[in-house]
Amino acid sequence: MSRPNENLASIREDDLVVVGAGVVGVTTAILLQEKFPNKQVIIVGEKLSPSTTSDVAAGIFKWTMKSPPGCGENWPKLSWDWYQKLAKFSPKQTGVSHLPALFFSSYGSEFCESKIMESLCKVYRKLTPRELNLAQPDGKFKYGVYLHTLQIDTETYIKFLTAKFLEKGGTILEAKLSSFDEIRSKIVINCTGLGARELAGDRELTPIRGQVLQVKAPWIKSCLYADDVYIIPGQNYVTVGGTRQYGDWNLNEEPHDTSRIWDRAVQTFPCIAGAQILDVKVGLRPHRKYPRVEMEECKDKLIFHNYGHCSWGIMSSPATSLEIVEMVSEHFESRKAKL
Ligand SMILES: Cc1cc2nc3c(=O)[nH]c(=O)nc-3n(C[C@H](O)[C@H](O)[C@H](O)COP(=O)(O)OP(=O)(O)OC[C@H]3O[C@@H](n4cnc5c(N)ncnc54)[C@H](O)[C@@H]3O)c2cc1C
Repeated sequence: MSRPNENLASIREDDLVVVGAGVVGVTTAILLQEKFPNKQVIIVGEKLSPSTTSDVAAGIFKWTMKSPPGCGENWPKLSWDWYQKLAKFSPKQTGVSHLPALFFSSYGSEFCESKIMESLCKVYRKLTPRELNLAQPDGKFKYGVYLHTLQIDTETYIKFLTAKFLEKGGTILEAKLSSFDEIRSKIVINCTGLGARELAGDRELTPIRGQVLQVKAPWIKSCLYADDVYIIPGQNYVTVGGTRQYGDWNLNEEPHDTSRIWDRAVQTFPCIAGAQILDVKVGLRPHRKYPRVEMEECKDKLIFHNYGHCSWGIMSSPATSLEIVEMVSEHFESRKAKL
């Protein structure tokens, strides 16, 4: 890896450059390598794992994301199949594991039930009245589902993908771009998450701040999710969340948020009470109405945008990245046809 911007000059016109080294960028880069083995694929990222938003995510697979009109119908299945394949290997290696999950809602069944999850999961059923009282106080949560889903421990997962990428000859450059013109390549894939607000001038992008606690609680073996309170076990810690603060750019840990998250978690799920807090993390979800998955012609370049995954980027990154790589492939095919 190199120092900021010093190696951007080594990028050639026909390299495929992915800007962004979060989960979306690294997934896209791996897929580009697979599709175009004769091309040099380069990732340029201001921050690398474990310092990206992706590293803060609890990594639960529960599809509630809205796709742009007219596309994305197959996204849940594409992502699900991608992670199911990885779940066959050791979670210590890939970061992907099977996870039983209980979702509770005090508002209505539509806040926890999901036709998409029902179609994907082998085990999916409503919670029994007795199970509903696992979330406290008794009688508050009237709706709930139990399902077998997947959890993606992002730090382990990005490490796994990055090792594969480097093994296959990929390059990672640590640098912040202020314009796509700083790189010579004709094809750029923009996976900069919230960074696209400046880099692509996308004013629709807004942060939704999330603060979470990472705790030691090895007795927690299922995901427990009730309204805004969640407890999600990963490979190295359990994530306890969380906040959703719209338009808030604050990346600092706020002690009052920590207290509120902890108090609500213990009140709702007393089984977490004995946990030891290991760390507190903050991430800014890249919110827009829909993720942007499209090609744009920009002067002498083609920019393929793959950003704006808000609260669902870990889960949906395989699908949108597969779609973007297909778009790049179609571009090459149409160029070949014109020659
Ligand atoms: C508290 C919390 C919990 C979450 N839980 C879940 C969950 O359970 N399941 C789920 O699916 N999702 C979850 N998410 C959402 C998920 O984390 C995001 O959707 C995802 O991380 C977005 O990934 P990304 O690669 O687009 O962005 P990032 O991880 O932010 O990566 C962006 C990359 O682009 C780089 N970059 C930005 N601007 C520039 C620039 N100008 N030049 C060079 N590089 C640049 C950054 O440095 C970084 O490398 C959660 C998020 C938070 C905050």
